[in-house]
Amino acid sequence: MNIILFGPPGAGKGTQAKILEREYGFKQLSTGDMLRAQIAEGTELGLQAKTVMDQGRLVSDEIVIGMIRSYVESGACVKGAVFDGFPRTIAQAEALDLMLSDLGRTIDIVVELQVEDEQLIARIQNRAHEEGRSDDTLKAFKVRLDAYRNYAADVLPYYQGKGIRRPVNGMQSVECVSEDLHAVLERDA
Ligand code: AMP
Repeated sequence: MNIILFGPPGAGKGTQAKILEREYGFKQLSTGDMLRAQIAEGTELGLQAKTVMDQGRLVSDEIVIGMIRSYVESGACVKGAVFDGFPRTIAQAEALDLMLSDLGRTIDIVVELQVEDEQLIARIQNRAHEEGRSDDTLKAFKVRLDAYRNYAADVLPYYQGKGIRRPVNGMQSVECVSEDLHAVLERDA
């Protein structure tokens, strides 16, 4: 099964993706984590991406599609994948459809984690404290939230049109969100 976890920064995508990885054996594919790994390794790609990420803007389609492609084509996610933070543009969504269809696979469910802005801000401030991410400043966060609203307005209707968009209330405890997520997957996939 292939799932997309969609939602604003701080919605809990990474947390829920890790739970799904543990419980179902799906592979979490987080473009944000992949980019942060490149930055930590000091690669050329990481250097390019860091400036853009620190400003809260989107990294180019070419870079993120290339990273996802290498994982999908490596067969690392035969049991299924949880795409976390990808796709963020229609070009990314279309590229993902193509690379999966080449393998005879498809996206089964797009879970939209819904969380109100005030709670997102509180969570991001907490994460900045705990993880020290350089894009978790209030200023960069507001740009990321704006970017989210813009790309969500493109990408969500794309999956709505395919009939696979499912909203989940992300304003609950981690355990309750996870239970709702399981219920959606058992019911619809
Ligand atoms: P995330 O960890 O998903 O919040 O991503 C952190 C940052 O990485 C984003 O604010 C973007 O700058 C960049 N990024 C992650 N995924 C993508 C993507 N699919 N498309 C473009 N930029 C991305």
